[in-house]
Amino acid sequence: MLGLMQTQPLLISGLLTFAECHHSDAEIISRRVEGDIHRYAYADLARRARRLANLLQNWGTEPGDRIGTLAWNGYRHMELYYAGGGSGRVTHTINPRLIPDQIAWIINHAEDQALFFDLTFLPIVQLIHDKCPTVKHWVVMIDADRMPADTGIPGLENYEELLAAQSGDYEWPELDENTACGMCYTSGTTGRPKGVLYSNRSSVLHAYGISLPDVINISSRDSILPVVPMFHVNAWGVPYAAALTGTRVVFPGPALDGKSVYELIESEGITCAAGVPTVWQMLLNHMDANKLKFSTLNRTVIGGAACPPAMIDAFEERYDVRVLHAWGMTETSPVGTLSTLKNKHLELDPEAQKKILLKQGRAVFGVDMKIVGGDGKELPHDGRTAGSLMVKGPWVIEDYFRSGDPSPLVDGWFPTGDIATIDEDGYMQITDRTKDVIKSGGEWISSIDLENIAVAHPEVAEAACIGVKHPKWDERPILVAVKKPGSDLTREELLAFYQDKVAKWQIPDDVIFVDEIPHGATGKLLKIKLRDLLKDYRLPTT
Ligand code: AMP
Repeated sequence: MLGLMQTQPLLISGLLTFAECHHSDAEIISRRVEGDIHRYAYADLARRARRLANLLQNWGTEPGDRIGTLAWNGYRHMELYYAGGGSGRVTHTINPRLIPDQIAWIINHAEDQALFFDLTFLPIVQLIHDKCPTVKHWVVMIDADRMPADTGIPGLENYEELLAAQSGDYEWPELDENTACGMCYTSGTTGRPKGVLYSNRSSVLHAYGISLPDVINISSRDSILPVVPMFHVNAWGVPYAAALTGTRVVFPGPALDGKSVYELIESEGITCAAGVPTVWQMLLNHMDANKLKFSTLNRTVIGGAACPPAMIDAFEERYDVRVLHAWGMTETSPVGTLSTLKNKHLELDPEAQKKILLKQGRAVFGVDMKIVGGDGKELPHDGRTAGSLMVKGPWVIEDYFRSGDPSPLVDGWFPTGDIATIDEDGYMQITDRTKDVIKSGGEWISSIDLENIAVAHPEVAEAACIGVKHPKWDERPILVAVKKPGSDLTREELLAFYQDKVAKWQIPDDVIFVDEIPHGATGKLLKIKLRDLLKDYRLPTT
């Protein structure tokens, strides 16, 4: 027997109309490419999104068509999120940090019909515009009087002029909630990038999920700063969750350095921020060097890569900011787990609490997870046994967009490629990634642990740990490290730093100092490239 309740579909346009009706005056603030700070409210967002939806329709784009963006975090990008997804099109956010050939490949694979871009990315568009035959409109998102001249791009259009010419009357269609609304290609550190296609339903459910108190806990009393890019898994869903909760949003635009981020946090009274560890490291360096304090920030979501213990110490002890360590993937919308204490942990001493908070955390309702061994059998949740992490749920991927490969699911579960433990309380902890795993004599060694120890050394700026072939142990870890300026740290001193921090057999066999470690487009260490650079390396024989 079916329930007798209404079945309104969960739609992106529903988030926008709710925001327009219930918190129309909540602000959306953006640092712009133009250099100034722009302010408007959800009512303005809704008004302009309707004009934009009319534009997409009047251009003759069809429901289901992909609309590309190459843009920083800002209000125009948010308008594209809602106009694209709300009208049944697919807003396809593209990572501008990829190389131009890869960007063109992604646009062609997605068959984008239009491309909206910030002026910053004009040089990329100049290189690729004649290689992307499906794109019929190239649109610069800049004030009309700042349009660049002589770009060499035929028919280049201006966002503000296009919007001004459209009617503000538009009725959002009542779509099937499984209709696609957004798209993001994975970072592409291995092989060709793969497209993840979000639905209205998955995005709305994810927005509900991440707003919960044990997750990001955002509300109409917060001001949130998503430093995590809108081109990287929808800025972790913040633009949707903010509309759902009436949260004041502040977008950092192109200025992501420590000083700019700090100034925005202070000038806009930010209470909650979200970003990857690299960004927070830049912020902390700036604050440490200038002896600064936060006056309003009370929590920060750190994810995308493991949060080093030293970073939790800095935020919590020096700056009184709670760290919310989160794990997720492009394929999981992205939030899967987040670490907050349970009631029974509140009496623990700070060190014991920190141990828990350093884990990637508990699953959000909507994400089921398990760990399995090499034989596919489920492993115990004892906090010690590590296995391949598998997830499933209504905001987890079912298949990649036109990949030509079979669905990645195994018995309905998505294999994350991460290796993790899960403890009795349900806290998941990543110990490594399948592609990076170092297996020595049949035992796992966590490259993440070894990297964390290295960067905790006061003279190490950055470190990456990779496995190299060994005749007896199969693989052994070596550490590639960048010294801080002026340091004369030696290999022996750094190896000695590992004594008593890990088991003897886990200590790296060698240290190679380099000037720079290669990074992928999303700032992650590019271990494949590193392995390639070190392919002629031989382990020391003594
Ligand atoms: P992406 O799809 O580019 O967001 O990358 C997802 C991958 O980043 C995950 O599968 C993990 O390997 C890694 N990752 C994300 N969050 C964390 C975290 N908190 N700790 C460790 N690794 C993480």
